[in-house]
Amino acid sequence: MEFRDLKSQYLNNKTAIDNAIQNVLLDGNFIGGAAVSQLEEVLAKYVGVKYCITCGNGTDALQLALMAWEIGKGDAVFVPDFTFFSSGEVVCAVGAEPVFVDIEADTYNISAESLEKAVQYVLKKTDLQPKAVVAVDLFGQPADFERVRTVANKYGLLILEDGAQGFGGKIGRKRAGSFGDISTTSFFPAKPLGCYGDGGAVFTDNNDWAELIRSYKVHGKGKDKYDNVRIGMNSRLDAMQAAVLLEKMELFDEEIDRCNKIAEEYTERLKDVVKVPVIREGMTSSWAQYTVCFKSNEERVRAIEALNMINVPTAVYYRKPMHMQAAFEKNRMDELDYTVTEGICERCLSLPMHGYLTSSEVCCIADRLVQAVMVND
Ligand SMILES: *Cc1c(COP(=O)(O)O)cnc(C)c1O
Repeated sequence: MEFRDLKSQYLNNKTAIDNAIQNVLLDGNFIGGAAVSQLEEVLAKYVGVKYCITCGNGTDALQLALMAWEIGKGDAVFVPDFTFFSSGEVVCAVGAEPVFVDIEADTYNISAESLEKAVQYVLKKTDLQPKAVVAVDLFGQPADFERVRTVANKYGLLILEDGAQGFGGKIGRKRAGSFGDISTTSFFPAKPLGCYGDGGAVFTDNNDWAELIRSYKVHGKGKDKYDNVRIGMNSRLDAMQAAVLLEKMELFDEEIDRCNKIAEEYTERLKDVVKVPVIREGMTSSWAQYTVCFKSNEERVRAIEALNMINVPTAVYYRKPMHMQAAFEKNRMDELDYTVTEGICERCLSLPMHGYLTSSEVCCIADRLVQAVMVND
């Protein structure tokens, strides 16, 4: 069994994807070209924003946003303590200071209450200027942008939505990718919308930022790439990936619907023995991960071993809080509280999740997990 079954997804749509790749080969335009601009149009429309700018990966997408905002030395950027490394890495890459913030115990997304405490701490105890907050749509569910925005407005913070895992998710009828002042996503193969290599995109309604990002991603170009007006980077989505993504968009909403049905089946079978994912009223998850939480690490270890014995892969997202990563040792603020994140890291486990899991596979995984937990209760 696969944790995320990209092969089944390909075989299910093989002819269309093969043709799309073949067309790029015949066209001979491998960087840029029609497929890339077409994809940017399709994605901007899907998300409901004015501008979509594709780039090399989801990490660059985040960094490009911080560059457009001229965030750097002396600036504080608030980042959830429970996320993939990139969300904080890019803050250091532009020379600013990441300040990690604890999460909500039910959704695992950034806690607006802890955010406010962290901002107040920075204002009182440091010389840093609070500039922005990275709100991550963890495991597919959008962050609580209403509450994050209230705190952001109060302290004049810009919101950067890290939608690497959230693409396809919704709050009401509004889609992920439209909640930040700038929002980003990743097309890494295992993400909800994945390509066959690296890829990413930036979304915004702001024309000036969109222009700046289009320049930064191509060596700080002015009139063209041989007229360089600022120091940028080389971060482009290639035509082959764009063509694949255009094909995958045709099936994307259907896949998310299937993931939602699979999540319901898991939850129905697991809800009495482990803490199952909580999706808030009005929110739709794109199910980048289906993550449960055990009573203890020992119970988690038993479950991993039991599933491993029947060839079911699992993963721990994430084992280490961001503030505990060696790379962030110098950025640690020991007075801030990370109790929730520390507890979740000890006890969480992500199960296989993708649109091509069958009901009988879900039953089999869930039943084995229940058995493993009940044995020692
Ligand atoms: C995967 C991921 C990224 C980075 O995306 P890449 O395309 O791998 O660079 C950033 N943030 C989060 C939350 C992610 O899960």
